[in-house]
Amino acid sequence: MNLRDSEVIAGLLLEGGFGVTEEEEKADAVLFVTCSVRQHAEDKVWSEIGRFSKMVPKPVIGLVGCMAENYKDKAFKRMQGIDVVVGTNNIGEIPYLLKEVFAHQLISSLAHQPFLAVSKKERDEVVYESMFRQEKDSSFVVISEGCDNFCSYCVVPYVRGRLRHRNYKNIIAEIEQNIKQGIERVTLLGQNVNAYQFKSVSQYQEIRILPPPLPSPHQGRAYRSRSIVNFMQLLKLVNDIDGLREFSFVTSHPKDASVELFEAMAKLDKLKKYLHLPFQSGSNRILELMKRGYTRERYLQLAGEYRKIVPQGELTTDIIVGFPSETEEDFKETLELVQKVRFNGAYIFKYSPRPHAKAGELPDDVPKIEKERRHRILLETQKKISKELKAKQ
Ligand code: SF4
Repeated sequence: MNLRDSEVIAGLLLEGGFGVTEEEEKADAVLFVTCSVRQHAEDKVWSEIGRFSKMVPKPVIGLVGCMAENYKDKAFKRMQGIDVVVGTNNIGEIPYLLKEVFAHQLISSLAHQPFLAVSKKERDEVVYESMFRQEKDSSFVVISEGCDNFCSYCVVPYVRGRLRHRNYKNIIAEIEQNIKQGIERVTLLGQNVNAYQFKSVSQYQEIRILPPPLPSPHQGRAYRSRSIVNFMQLLKLVNDIDGLREFSFVTSHPKDASVELFEAMAKLDKLKKYLHLPFQSGSNRILELMKRGYTRERYLQLAGEYRKIVPQGELTTDIIVGFPSETEEDFKETLELVQKVRFNGAYIFKYSPRPHAKAGELPDDVPKIEKERRHRILLETQKKISKELKAKQ
């Protein structure tokens, strides 16, 4: 999502009359498009901002994205070199804000004026209209933003906002635009793509009838049209686009995954047979604390159905070790699930408390050394399985 955001920002800047360079010594402004999912990612950003702040002359420094939402105006106090802080849904304002910063510097070379744009509820659709694409043959297309799941360890709903779905017509138009530019492979993006559902119910006609009022539940309103497109229907629409060679999607949530999804995956010829389905923990007690909304048994059932319906399909996952109160028994259940499902790949993370997230209220009581041990065991197990599965292909 951040890669796509960076591309969108580059496109907006180019359209706003700026140039984009990857050579840091040439840059008049440096923007950090940031992630708050783990403490480690944030620490790296603070350290890079510190490095750029010491440069002479110092470039304009912008903190953009999740950390901007997380810290808001406190970011200016935390790191004095920051000139502009822009939240995840405010990125459309970046060209204007940068012009303001440069104009301010021209008229007043001494006083530091911080610029803040955060907390916007939704992105304007126009941010996706830029034709700038980083890659020549593949691209990301956002289908939904934000998340309503509020998993107890996760900061995403607080920094990216509540779940919103883009209009499927705009999604299709963006893919067609990519194809015109020679890009024939796309990845549909969202924090929880399976929950995609676009409703157009606002087309109603106001009928004014003065007394007596209609005793109907829709008093005086006749609906003209009502259409709902869910994720499986969206996949079909994308599959039907002329000129598209291949597409895939990330990320799925087990509570919204279904046999219908796997059947669509098996059927649609352009859809890559690849599913990323994070399970996070193999212990029902920990899953409950994580507020994930499914059990170990349900996950195993889904994984089995996927393997049966999409036999050539790849399956990858995310796992967190060292969640508060995770015992050796809980960890063994996670390890056992990895051995049972035999994923093609897994992203394994050590738990770190995040601001806003509910799990932050629980004591982070698994010692660092123990988190590292569990991480290492899972990593080694998964590496072996990945190698064996690859050898069979
Ligand atoms: S599903 Fe859970 S982990 Fe994923 S973005 Fe939403 S809140 Fe975070």
